[in-house]
Amino acid sequence: MKKRSRKHLNELTLIDLIRQRSSYRDDNQVALGIGDDCGILRPAKGCEILVTTDFSLEGRHFLRDRHPAQSVGHRCLTRGLSDLAAMGASPMAAFLSLALPSRMLSTESGLRWVDRFFAGFHRLGNLYKVTLAGGDTSESPTGLILADIVLVGSAPRGRSLRRSGGRAGDILYVTGALGGASAELAHVLAGRRLSRLTEIEGHPHLFPQPRLTIGKELVRRQLATAALDISDGLSTDLAHLCEASNLHAELDQSTLPIHPLARRLPPEQALQAALHGGEDYELLFAAPPSVRIPKAIAGVPLTRIGMLKAATPKQPLITLLEPDGRRRPLEPEGWRHFSAHRKPSR
Ligand code: ADP
Ligand code: MG
Repeated sequence: MKKRSRKHLNELTLIDLIRQRSSYRDDNQVALGIGDDCGILRPAKGCEILVTTDFSLEGRHFLRDRHPAQSVGHRCLTRGLSDLAAMGASPMAAFLSLALPSRMLSTESGLRWVDRFFAGFHRLGNLYKVTLAGGDTSESPTGLILADIVLVGSAPRGRSLRRSGGRAGDILYVTGALGGASAELAHVLAGRRLSRLTEIEGHPHLFPQPRLTIGKELVRRQLATAALDISDGLSTDLAHLCEASNLHAELDQSTLPIHPLARRLPPEQALQAALHGGEDYELLFAAPPSVRIPKAIAGVPLTRIGMLKAATPKQPLITLLEPDGRRRPLEPEGWRHFSAHRKPSR
């Protein structure tokens, strides 16, 4: 943004700014981007379209005085991209509806926030070659920043990974490491100074990476029967997979890959963060035991953490196998956030 234009921005100038900042342009799937009444997308032959939408609401998903604006923009886009990754889809285009308090467009600090939000948003978009192809901009009547991201993706027809595809005997795998996002969130809420925010590696809460390459590989090589992302926490999202597939899951506690940031916590807290922490944006998938799953895809480790079994009446959805061999039922207790730790509906 030029210094001169910082004094005041109206909606039109803001849209111009959004468009200029969106640097990924070489895109044969987006026939028409920002500027007309609709965007026009061109899916490849033999593909079907997947659509997902996610809110990023101030006070619920981020705190303006705690989260750097780059992180808010980054996480807003990650939420949508991770849903596409979970089903093995490739992003075609993003659409962003943004409501900003009017004060933000007429103050230096407000404009700086918007500028940084889009810097974070577009940095991730450029990394995964996702075009921002449209959206809506409005004044927020509540004084809060509200963003709603829509992601459109494509996948080979009939091949996307659903939650319902799991079969008894399938092995459960998770990508990356668990509990890092909730461990870093504790630092963010405590207002600790965060180092090296120019680096997006090593910040599982502030700059989570959508596992797009892994999801796509699972589909391309037909490795998985079911998948989802664990944005709401392993226990909650595994329960979703069990319900959708009508199966029971057994998790092996000793195999859970715990993120280095969570490993600094006392062991019980580290385990809680890994099981229930939420917002890790890793993928959980099931694969038949006969399928050889690589140790890593795109440099991200894949870890075997349990298996799916036939469900029997009155059994909990998930059993946790503890290191001493005992078994206990595991209740889904995923994602809690601000708002006095009420469980949000997501
Ligand atoms: P309309 O009145 O048809 O809704 P707008 O004036 O809201 O048009 O938007 C003009 C163009 O700018 C449209 O192509 C729209 O998709 C795009 N646009 C508006 N807001 C955003 C945003 N927050 N992000 C991306 N594109 C946007
Ligand atoms: Mg509009």
